[in-house]
Amino acid sequence: MTHPEGAPLFAFEHTYVRDLDGLFTPWQAATAPAPQLLALNTTLAVELGIDPDALSTPEGVATLVGNSTVPGSTPVAQAYAGHQFGGYSPRLGDGRALLLGEMLDARGDRRDVHLKGSGRTPFARGGDGKAAVGPMLREYVISEAMHAMGVPTTRSLAVVATGEMIARDTMVPGAVLTRVAASHVRVGTFQYAAALADPTVLPRLADYVIARHHPAAAQSDAPYLGLLQAVVEVQAALIARWMLVGFIHGVMNTDNMTVSGETIDYGPCAFMDAYDPGTVFSSIDQHGRYAFGNQPDIAVWNLARFAETLLPLIATDPHDAVGPAMELLGTFDNRYRQHWNDGMRAKLGLPVESVGSVEAAAAGDESLVTDLLRLLQEQRIDHTMFLRSLSAVVRGDATASRSLFAQPEVFDTWRARWLVRVLTEGRDPHAIAAAMDAVNPVYIARNHQVEAALAAATAGDLAPFGRLVEVVTQPFTERPGLEHYAVPAPASFGDYRTFCGT
Ligand code: AMP
Ligand code: MG
Repeated sequence: MTHPEGAPLFAFEHTYVRDLDGLFTPWQAATAPAPQLLALNTTLAVELGIDPDALSTPEGVATLVGNSTVPGSTPVAQAYAGHQFGGYSPRLGDGRALLLGEMLDARGDRRDVHLKGSGRTPFARGGDGKAAVGPMLREYVISEAMHAMGVPTTRSLAVVATGEMIARDTMVPGAVLTRVAASHVRVGTFQYAAALADPTVLPRLADYVIARHHPAAAQSDAPYLGLLQAVVEVQAALIARWMLVGFIHGVMNTDNMTVSGETIDYGPCAFMDAYDPGTVFSSIDQHGRYAFGNQPDIAVWNLARFAETLLPLIATDPHDAVGPAMELLGTFDNRYRQHWNDGMRAKLGLPVESVGSVEAAAAGDESLVTDLLRLLQEQRIDHTMFLRSLSAVVRGDATASRSLFAQPEVFDTWRARWLVRVLTEGRDPHAIAAAMDAVNPVYIARNHQVEAALAAATAGDLAPFGRLVEVVTQPFTERPGLEHYAVPAPASFGDYRTFCGT
């Protein structure tokens, strides 16, 4: 693909700005003194119909860092509110981010192109409006790892160093991330709209989101209940994906939950090593509100805040809307269970249909799964390594799985029960094992590897970061020479802590 001389790099559209007056402020990015392209996602560029070579030119980099704007387009800072750790902030918004515009990708899907770290906006409050190289590369690698594992997420198109040092614990190099998303509309956007004096904003926002993300709801007799149902469904599906790969978001505030169902805002997130529902990495999550095992409950809590904003749209007297909204919120559990069970069955190689009584077999499989999780937690077994090792057991070699346990006998008992179910009805072990390998990643973005790559990049060496991106964006294909990416941190790495305020 070549880029025609003189044509703008991005053919932006602006439906958000066109339709949602009241929910943004036009704003310009701060000037980056000496932009330098640190990471460029050529695959994503092509998906968006942009020439990656054109993005790497000085003009391209100037656009990616916010130094030059696409002619005729106005960047905006989006407004939103949000419950942060349960406490409500009526006005958050893009304090250091800008929506450049939307474009239709190669499949015709509308995608937002957005800058993060592009300078203070009217929403910046006390913040400096900037972002550091380390955290922006972190968002890049983890979001791309999530995408490669099939988890819905915002994407990372590029990271550009600004050439400016910014104040964090120490002085660190600044950067701008170019993020691509189905949209940046959050539960917090609805909270903000619902609190505005202008009563037309909320219905416009709801209609916009229905048209852009959940068009089937428009066909329903009750479109706003349809919207609630659609968001409950996409979030149930999303959180199940997180739980299946051991992802801990770390800061599931309502402003960090999209209505599209994409993962957003990679701050203090991290992947769990040893299986433990109580795992928390974020230094600011002192009470474990956003611990691994709490994520489904927190999603429901956030969705309840979303539902509250919709009550006046659902019924003329909002009291009449409470019952139906509660009923829909109540469906989250079953939806989540269904997604999680389907995912877990695939990971464990369990048959979809069962022999004899469906209920009996399903109940047996359920206790297989709960017993396994108890075992992994008690024995502190690495979640990713263990699940990946199971395909070898199906192929007839249990060495790798057994070696993860200090007391392999406890695993042997479970293994015998599980294999009976897996190999029921003369199923083909090789086909099952291959299918398991396609859903159990070998490589996740391991905390110590991420930290090492970011430290090197911050000091000017991008090679380890580039290698890490290559490894985690092909998570299911085991490759020789990459063994050290497939194992947890050595004990010397210590207790991992992640930080917000990135
Ligand atoms: P986050 O924790 O990244 O989801 O951000 C929460 C809120 O704080 C959002 O309104 C951000 O725009 C804002 N924010 C975070 N960091 C900064 C910063 N360095 N400067 C200005 N605003 C910020
Ligand atoms: Mg946020």
